[in-house]
Amino acid sequence: MNFTPTRPLPYGRQNITEADVAAVTAALQADFLTQGPAVAEFEKQFAAYVGARYAVAVSNGTAALHLCALALDVQPGQRVITTPLTFSASANCVRYCGGEVQFADIDPATGLINLAKVRALLEAHPKGHFSGLISVDFAGLAVDLEAARQLADEFGLWIIEDSCHAPGGFFIDSAGQEQQCGNGNFADLAIFSFHPVKHIATGEGGMITTNNEQLFQQLLRLRTHGITREPADLVHESEGGWYMEMQELGYNYRIADLNCALGLSQLARADAGLARRRQLAAQYDAAFAQIPGVTMLAPGRPGHAYHLYIIEVADRKGLYDFLKTRQIFTQVHYIPVHRMPYYEGLGWKAGDFPLAEAYYTRCLSIPLFPTLTDEEQDYVVSCIREFIVTGQQ
Ligand SMILES: *Cc1c(COP(=O)(O)O)cnc(C)c1O
Repeated sequence: MNFTPTRPLPYGRQNITEADVAAVTAALQADFLTQGPAVAEFEKQFAAYVGARYAVAVSNGTAALHLCALALDVQPGQRVITTPLTFSASANCVRYCGGEVQFADIDPATGLINLAKVRALLEAHPKGHFSGLISVDFAGLAVDLEAARQLADEFGLWIIEDSCHAPGGFFIDSAGQEQQCGNGNFADLAIFSFHPVKHIATGEGGMITTNNEQLFQQLLRLRTHGITREPADLVHESEGGWYMEMQELGYNYRIADLNCALGLSQLARADAGLARRRQLAAQYDAAFAQIPGVTMLAPGRPGHAYHLYIIEVADRKGLYDFLKTRQIFTQVHYIPVHRMPYYEGLGWKAGDFPLAEAYYTRCLSIPLFPTLTDEEQDYVVSCIREFIVTGQQ
């Protein structure tokens, strides 16, 4: 093949248009740089996009996770279950509150937490031993939260859905209905990230969605120092127009108006971006079906939002290094969280979650983003084919 790409091809990248630039410029020239009208508008439109009642915009996805753990009152010593196959932040939010993280291994066919393993963990301990479940819609494939909710109700758990990979994704419930990631029908709280590699970019940014009004109100306070100005909520009588109360220990996890102006502009194109991701994924599926030695992770699943397109190969490091010489910059998602030295320091070790560990030795995330052209994609496929078919270089 004669095509040579005119730009490096990373595994993911943002798409900034003229409309985005105009939206940010307008926000810069308006009255507020932070806490202006774009924040509330972004929350409203994002809630509508995922089908949730409430949304709270915050400074990044990790702050969103921390606020969720605070709102659900994670206490020192409490135990929370999550997957080892995620970005560390999914687990770290438990540690911020002094809680203990318990992992449950993955289903190797999907990369998602195996709910049968979660059930086995829950049944092996007295009720109350675990407080919550943090599920992760890994790579953009939604966890079956209807099944997770049944389990949670049976054992008295709350659920945080880490949906950073899956805005626009859904699973199909037992009644045949599409259940959008973050719609609040099953999880108590769901979180999203607007880091530039994710579907919607705001620079840094995050969102929490929920259908629970009480949690929503608490998140609003926790996001801004634990402060309230609502007359009905005051402990003391108001002393004038300036009066406010700091009622609990909150944080400054606000996001600026500027970032939300970009988010609104990006959100308007989210459906088009998702459609292109799905189209590219289907084209990869068709191409790799012809290349023995390349296994696709969870191909052809309905509702997949395709944050990542992941293949599994025997010589992962060889392929990673080879593609780099061809200006294709792949990535590995993820080194299992329990293998991070910090978590090893808490007692986890190699061999604890063999399926996540085996997956890790083979996985590679290859370029997938809405502006990837068909020619660039063909180039990626042909380089992978060259490596696999003609042997190692
Ligand atoms: C990106 C990501 C986060 C953290 O989001 P930030 O905005 O970078 O803080 C958390 N969980 C998962 C699964 C992610 O992919």
